[in-house]
Amino acid sequence: MKADVTIVGCGLAGCTLAERFATEYGLHCLIIEKRKHIAGNCFDAHDRHGVLLHEYGPHYFRTNSDKVREYLSRFTAWRPADYRILSYTGGRFFSFPINLTTFEQLIGRPSTQPEMEEYLAARRIPIANPANAEQAVLAQVGHELYEMFFKGYTQKQWQRDPRELDASICRRIPIRTYRDERYFDDKFQAIPADGYTRMFERLIAHPKIQILLGADAAQILPQLETRHLFYTGPIDAFYGHRFDKLPYRSLRFERDTYEEEFHQPAVQVNFPNDHPYTRTVEVKHVTGQKLPVTTVLREFPEEYTGANEPYYPVLTEATRDTYRRYAALAEQEERITFVGRLATYQYYNMDQVVAQALQTFEKTREKIASQTASGFAGWKRPAAGS
Ligand code: FAD
Ligand code: UDP
Repeated sequence: MKADVTIVGCGLAGCTLAERFATEYGLHCLIIEKRKHIAGNCFDAHDRHGVLLHEYGPHYFRTNSDKVREYLSRFTAWRPADYRILSYTGGRFFSFPINLTTFEQLIGRPSTQPEMEEYLAARRIPIANPANAEQAVLAQVGHELYEMFFKGYTQKQWQRDPRELDASICRRIPIRTYRDERYFDDKFQAIPADGYTRMFERLIAHPKIQILLGADAAQILPQLETRHLFYTGPIDAFYGHRFDKLPYRSLRFERDTYEEEFHQPAVQVNFPNDHPYTRTVEVKHVTGQKLPVTTVLREFPEEYTGANEPYYPVLTEATRDTYRRYAALAEQEERITFVGRLATYQYYNMDQVVAQALQTFEKTREKIASQTASGFAGWKRPAAGS
């Protein structure tokens, strides 16, 4: 099999690279994807009741990058979205992430920003440089709010003590003393007007882009001739787990459909302290579909075993060390580049993945455009696979 540029993975990283090389240089790009559909974890589809679902968990697009927004806007119009999430704890719904409304719900009366700041100042644990996920929260809000909103959720999601986990995991969640109930701070928050899958269809609708679905790279790479390979699957699998296996968290989804327009009070309800699932998602709140029925997905975290999907890198000191060993191998590669959330073992959002892919294109474009199609003949890579 031959291609100018070969890409493993038909997610956001892979499709962005294919689009760039096909459009800018007219290069023949082959995308190898083991799932039976395009769009990676962003995949959305209608269920049998006609409800548009995010099949791999809720995907709320948001970004501060004009470059990323402008790039994706070539392939989709946007529907503005106001992502508002509730946390159900102690038998009640609270506005989440923590903000002035949450504080008022907690104390049972209207309040002000100075009062909330005073409340937090009296409870924050003084930790100058939080070294883990627990410390990251304690340093901002103290024990009571940590235990109400973060401790149980984090244990359930990662099945690890929050003290083992990187501080950045909980720092994803803003803490505000003013009134802003949105989940994120980014200046642009919207979802593709016709859904993610449709956006991906347009992204890769180029005659020079060829897609092989339901194909594991492990079977194809050994017979491949190509100028360059971009790999967006798990990096440890690519190297045959030569060092320790990198842990990933997976999820199991359960869904129920209800004969009502909306079933829950917000697009997402988090359950830090109840139930074995972390959250329930009714994405219809943000897709804007008008239907008399609705579907809700429950997310049950589980360990990645190889038989399920690797969704999240598990960031700890030990896994960062292991990743660095794989990354050192990757740096030696002249004709292989690792891109995306799994291949660079980063807890990246969609916009960060697009930014990384665009940057990778800029770095590699001239070299790849001027290369001859000598291919990978005689390539002795250990078989890839996940
Ligand atoms: P993926 O989408 O994972 O694509 C990689 C592809 O490679 C996969 O399709 C996989 O099947 C394929 N592959 C792997 N190995 C092989 C192989 N050996 N052979 C062939 N194919 C292979 N981001 C946001 O910005 N907002 C959100 O609200 C948000 N919510 C999320 C919720 C969940 C539950 C999850 C898991 C992620 C969420 N994200 C969100 C993150 C977002 O999904 C990622 O940033 C983005 O999809 C990563 O794109 P990618 O191309 O790196 O990886
Ligand atoms: N988190 C939490 N309580 C919540 C929501 C999030 O403790 O109600 C913590 C938890 O550790 C989670 C992390 O913050 O894994 C990141 O949350 P986010 O909502 O960004 O998770 P994602 O959508 O990426 O699964």
